[in-house]
Amino acid sequence: MKIGGHFPISKGLVKALEMTGRAGGNTMQFFTKNPGQWKSKKIDPMIAGRFIQAAKKKEIAPLIVHDSYLINLASADEELLRKSIKAFIEEIERAEMLSAKYIVTHMGAHKGAGEKSGLEILTRSVAESIEKTPGMDVTILLETTAGQGTQLGYSFSHIGHVIKNVRDSERLGVCLDTCHIFAAGYDITSDEGYKKTLDEFEREIGLKNLKVVHVNDAKKPLGSRVDRHEFIGKGHIGIGAFERIVNDPGFSNIPLILETPEPEKMHKKYIKLLRYLGGETPPPPL
Ligand SMILES: [Zn+2]
Repeated sequence: MKIGGHFPISKGLVKALEMTGRAGGNTMQFFTKNPGQWKSKKIDPMIAGRFIQAAKKKEIAPLIVHDSYLINLASADEELLRKSIKAFIEEIERAEMLSAKYIVTHMGAHKGAGEKSGLEILTRSVAESIEKTPGMDVTILLETTAGQGTQLGYSFSHIGHVIKNVRDSERLGVCLDTCHIFAAGYDITSDEGYKKTLDEFEREIGLKNLKVVHVNDAKKPLGSRVDRHEFIGKGHIGIGAFERIVNDPGFSNIPLILETPEPEKMHKKYIKLLRYLGGETPPPPL
């Protein structure tokens, strides 16, 4: 199984790979810059080269980049929209430079302009970002959201709409976050709900477009529309849903990424737990 977590790069990109290795991970998600700032420093090609080599040597793949939180590709405010598209294109270029296979982005928020118009703007922004990064290999993944405020992407139909309407959609895919979809009202806590959710995903988006899963439990109940990650088994989703995922043959090649606090200390424990639930390793010590 491909299991890893989001790791910090504050001590350097190669250090993040080392943390992944120590945690028992074989895939990794990371930011390429401070996600709360617009500005970014150019990545030194030497550092990029060293990072790519180290990832190969440690057999950590795929590499997954998460973009900045400030980017809003659905903004009705023209100035913020231009700034967002520019920043997103830079994020794609940085991800490509680091040989990341995927770059995960949130769907953006319409901020009162309405969902229909937000989805149209978002679709155009994604198309433009692909057009302006020709020949690049990195695949853009639209992440499912909890639907906080005026956020788009809480319904699978939103994501399906973007994928169907971007011409060059071979470079587009989806990242499903278990916490977000649960907060958005998709009940994956029962066998029946899990099946219903995946059926809807297949209908609206197509399961072939699912490339990454963020495995987070939820601090808030079903349909809360609030995005608060919890450690696996400690939240409202509960361990059963994660057991279903790691034993579902449809997920066998999909990287599972933890996005919970204290990565250096805690990811190891939950990577072990997931490997155990999937029958890969003996039970972890309690
Ligand atoms: Zn996520």
